[in-house]
Amino acid sequence: MKINLTEEGQSDTSCLLRIYDIAEFSVHDGPGVRVVIYFQGCNARCEWCHSPHSQLNYAPLLFNPNVCIGCQRCVSACKNQCHVFIENKHIINRDKCIQCGSCVEQCPASVTGVKGSALHLPTVEVSVSSLFEQVSPYLQLGGKKGGITLSGGEALLQTDAAKQLLQLCKQNGYHTAVETSGLLSPEIYKNVLPLVDLWLFGMRVVTGKDHKRHYKHIQKVLKLLTDENANILPRIPMVPGFFDRDDVLEDILELFKEFSLSSVCLNPWNPYYDAHYMQSGIPLQINPPSQEEIKACEDKISLVFTNFNTIKYENNETKH
Ligand code: SF4
Ligand code: SF4
Ligand code: SF4
Repeated sequence: MKINLTEEGQSDTSCLLRIYDIAEFSVHDGPGVRVVIYFQGCNARCEWCHSPHSQLNYAPLLFNPNVCIGCQRCVSACKNQCHVFIENKHIINRDKCIQCGSCVEQCPASVTGVKGSALHLPTVEVSVSSLFEQVSPYLQLGGKKGGITLSGGEALLQTDAAKQLLQLCKQNGYHTAVETSGLLSPEIYKNVLPLVDLWLFGMRVVTGKDHKRHYKHIQKVLKLLTDENANILPRIPMVPGFFDRDDVLEDILELFKEFSLSSVCLNPWNPYYDAHYMQSGIPLQINPPSQEEIKACEDKISLVFTNFNTIKYENNETKH
């Protein structure tokens, strides 16, 4: 969806949200056909993150070389000399970028706000009321079986705005889901708990450098949610070298046992992993796995969860 850019201030009382994308018709992020709002900003810093541009408060300028025609208009459009051509190679110095959008406006292969353009600034600030108005037609199409999913990044980092959006959705009778890594303070979860019908709980950060610390934190948050009888669907991304490790799978199974979690969603490897890093100019943190490694990882994880109610998707449209 193209996100409208000029809506701030329509409602004085609404918080502003920073988002980087909207999916109008997702079937992978909760029951039915759903609107997914991708919030900008994340505190988890997963080593294998497949949406690195979602982590900071503002995403970097994205550059898609596949549609760039090499006209160099961006060079003269940028007052900060961020765009440079060296031996016909387009280099972007994002350190100097102030996200003014001039290069995007001048680029013949870009439309402001449209992803996939040669140049794209994904992060948009929009009031909660304006965003709700914009997605309402799609929520109506999704009907009672669908709803809204707050994803990211980490949606609940923008706690007040997320809460306002959830409140608006509940007032209008929509099913609400929130995707989370489980790594926020318990107070944040308590604050929005009554407004969330389903927690899409990314078990993904039970790994990496902070494995043990993350495990304990996730355990605490799962206790909080299960004590309140929250509806939880754990999600595991199939990332070779991380989630197919025996110690990680054992830890996840321990948590499932401790909190009587009987369903799990297995999210496939995100096929846009390389493209996201390349377009945002962020160095790859891990080497992209081969198809064989991805398949072996999926097979191993699937086997471990044979006795669980397992939801699997063939394609992964989720960006989280
Ligand atoms: S929780 Fe999601 S968005 Fe955040 S760092 Fe991990 S994979 Fe990336
Ligand atoms: S957004 Fe503005 S500062 Fe950044 S590269 Fe484009 S013209 Fe330069
Ligand atoms: S203005 Fe657009 S199409 Fe032209 S070189 Fe820059 S990015 Fe490429």
